[in-house]
Amino acid sequence: MTQVTVKELAQEVAAPVERLLQQMREAGLPHTDAGQVVTDTEKQALLAHLKSSHKAKVEEPRKITLQRKTTSTLRVAGSKTISVEVRKKKTFVKQSPEEIEAAQRRELEERRATENAARDKLNDQVRLRAEEEARKAAPAANASQPEPAAVAEAPAARAAEPAPERAPQPAMVAEVRKRDDARRPDKPKATTADDDRRGGDRKNQPHRATVKEKAPTPRAAPRTTEEESDGFRRGGRGKSKLKKRNMHGFQSPTGPLVRDVVIGETITVSDLAQQMSVKGAEVVKFMFKLGTPVTINQVLDQDTAQLIAEELGHKVKLVSDNALEESLAESLRYEGETVARAPVVTVMGHVDHGKTSLLDYIRRAKVAAGEAGGITQHIGAYHVETDRGMVTFLDTPGHAAFTAMRARGAKATDIVILVVAADDGVMPQTIEAVQHAKAAGVPLVVAVNKIDKPGADLDRIRSELSVQGVTSEEWGGDTPFVSVSAKMGTGVDELLEAVLLQAEVLELKASPAAPGRGVVVESRLDKGRGPVATVLVQDGTLRQGDMVLVGSNFGRIRAMLDENGKNVKEAGPSIPVEILGLDGTPDAGDEMSVLADEKKAREVALFRQGKFREVKLARAHAGKLENIFESMGQEEKKTLNIVLKSDVRGSLEALQGALGGLGNDEVQVRVVAGGVGGITESDANLALASNAVVFGFNVRADAGARKIVEQEGLDMRYYNVIYDIIEDVKKALTGMLGSDVRENILGIAEVRDVFRSPKFGAVAGCMVLEGIVHRNRPIRVLREDVVIFEGELESLRRFKDDMSEVRAGMECGIGVKSYNDVKVGDKIEVFEKVQVARTL
Ligand code: GDP
Repeated sequence: MTQVTVKELAQEVAAPVERLLQQMREAGLPHTDAGQVVTDTEKQALLAHLKSSHKAKVEEPRKITLQRKTTSTLRVAGSKTISVEVRKKKTFVKQSPEEIEAAQRRELEERRATENAARDKLNDQVRLRAEEEARKAAPAANASQPEPAAVAEAPAARAAEPAPERAPQPAMVAEVRKRDDARRPDKPKATTADDDRRGGDRKNQPHRATVKEKAPTPRAAPRTTEEESDGFRRGGRGKSKLKKRNMHGFQSPTGPLVRDVVIGETITVSDLAQQMSVKGAEVVKFMFKLGTPVTINQVLDQDTAQLIAEELGHKVKLVSDNALEESLAESLRYEGETVARAPVVTVMGHVDHGKTSLLDYIRRAKVAAGEAGGITQHIGAYHVETDRGMVTFLDTPGHAAFTAMRARGAKATDIVILVVAADDGVMPQTIEAVQHAKAAGVPLVVAVNKIDKPGADLDRIRSELSVQGVTSEEWGGDTPFVSVSAKMGTGVDELLEAVLLQAEVLELKASPAAPGRGVVVESRLDKGRGPVATVLVQDGTLRQGDMVLVGSNFGRIRAMLDENGKNVKEAGPSIPVEILGLDGTPDAGDEMSVLADEKKAREVALFRQGKFREVKLARAHAGKLENIFESMGQEEKKTLNIVLKSDVRGSLEALQGALGGLGNDEVQVRVVAGGVGGITESDANLALASNAVVFGFNVRADAGARKIVEQEGLDMRYYNVIYDIIEDVKKALTGMLGSDVRENILGIAEVRDVFRSPKFGAVAGCMVLEGIVHRNRPIRVLREDVVIFEGELESLRRFKDDMSEVRAGMECGIGVKSYNDVKVGDKIEVFEKVQVARTL
């Protein structure tokens, strides 16, 4: 367990040492000095004390609790309706009104003071400069300059003016100013400030012309910047006017300005501030006082935003973002006769086990039959007719597509065909596929492929898969196993039959008479045809000419093509089609629905476009180990989902065992997926789809995975000690996850060449790919995203020079201390350990 000193603890919790010591004394702890060590038990005692004293404080009316109740109805299977009531409660402990008021007053005064000071300073500068310039300049009577704007123009313009003939005299300047001032009184008072703001106002012209007479010499011109010219413009007349503006600007309003603040389900701090006509910083400060630090770009939830706005005295109008979506859902509701629909199938399995071959065989044998010209294009999905019925295949490669769609909330697949090569057996991606299918709750049909090959061993596959929880029907399980040869076509009909049998069990239904609804399989921008999206119709019927809303895009369907590139007029349930006519390319997994009303489609699309960004930001808050439980309901047993990747099977199994054993009646740990090897895009997507955290044990994430982690704000942690993972998970389970030591990866270099140096042994010629490689930080050597060595650097050089650091994009020679086995393609990662406080 980690032990910290009082001082470190104080830093961790961002409290002054004295206060912490005081609190520790109150908690009955013996500490008197910042250097003393605080044990875990003592920490707990302190925490318990703080909690109880906090409770005592809460008794005072320093607490705001917001409660909201929303009711909605949920339709389940057929016509049953359940009424759902959601109660939200949020409590803030706040400062007393006097404190807040005093703080606000102080702040306002401070701001006034600084603004006034800044203005006075500027005025002085402006005046001095003007005087100086005027002294230098001759009164070149260049009043013919027509437009005031020209005064502020580039120095070059002024440089071109005729050179003044004689030196200016101070008397002149004074006179000019006097004249200038003399004009002022006859100006209508009310417009003064306005005029000042409107730089190009014609009324100002006489003043400017006057000033213009004092044009600077060409000598002075090159120095003149935009700011200076501005200053110059004001020089002759500015000061008193600026003062006036000051007075005008700070006339305090007679009463507080109450604004109507419209708050959606989420709102950024800056948007909220804007609606209240205050600076973003004010909201940040306000939140800080409530004990919740936020940044200006942070997205607040509705309750918090409401609290802020109301506390600052504004009227709040809450709008449910979903109001629009709900009314949309309402308008899409359709009740009508349902009929059985064809199953939609995704083929998954380990690389080279024959997924493509199987899909190609089925397509060639079934789709092309009777189609003149055969297959002309690939649209990511196709359907086949068999004697027993129709089957639709999603032809998107890899598991990532499957999970990516699911991560977006779309369930497009009814059944997964798991392809396992009979001569190779269960491999890592086979296991991954099983995990993905299980996580999605989609039944499997196993295709044992390459049955034509010698060495095909069906029983071996059965037993290997049963270890993964996939038991064949012959062995008393519920998964059909079919032997096929994608090469010869053997068993393919039986496979399709098995799929259709499985589909019957699922009782898949749709209403062909309803307006079309579906999901995007893929989309692209075609040079000639514009945005083209492949959609799978899931319910209803989609027709050419329909107005559709697809994710945050919309449009009228100009043309529809089937998987053979043939124009079709309509597409019913489970039929994939390409649609043309959208205003952009939607994402795979986006939902499509037909809307009668173009205006509505446009409105929702635009609304979604605006919301997209916020949702992404808001989502960055979910899925963090620290708050993963907060987002869960109260009644159900809380589950911490984990996607776990490890360097070797041994530690994976040890971890799975240890983690699975954690938890109690209320909380549990579920390793959604565990595997050996680096963290891939597919792992990240799976974590996203199942609201899991990602743990890498001695392995790292590849670039694709890192991108998703960053974009979606997933919690991904690297570990190299089994005990640390278990500790963190335990802490997360008890809600005690405090500050911890996290590793920051500072730089990554790739080994491009290895040569021997008599002095350093093996030296790796490297290219720094990311960040900075530091000479004196701990490092690890990674091979295929798996950690193979941890230590430090012996040397870091560029050409012949020793370097303390080398940046991304540069080459360097790296010698690793007591490790001589680096290979070309290895990566060297430089990291640091930092104390991170618990984030909110
Ligand atoms: P994928 O990576 O899972 O899409 O696998 P592919 O479909 O590309 O197949 C990998 C290799 O296995 C190719 O060389 C195929 O020709 C071969 N292959 C696929 N199915 C069979 C089969 O049933 N029998 C034999 N002998 N080879 C097959």
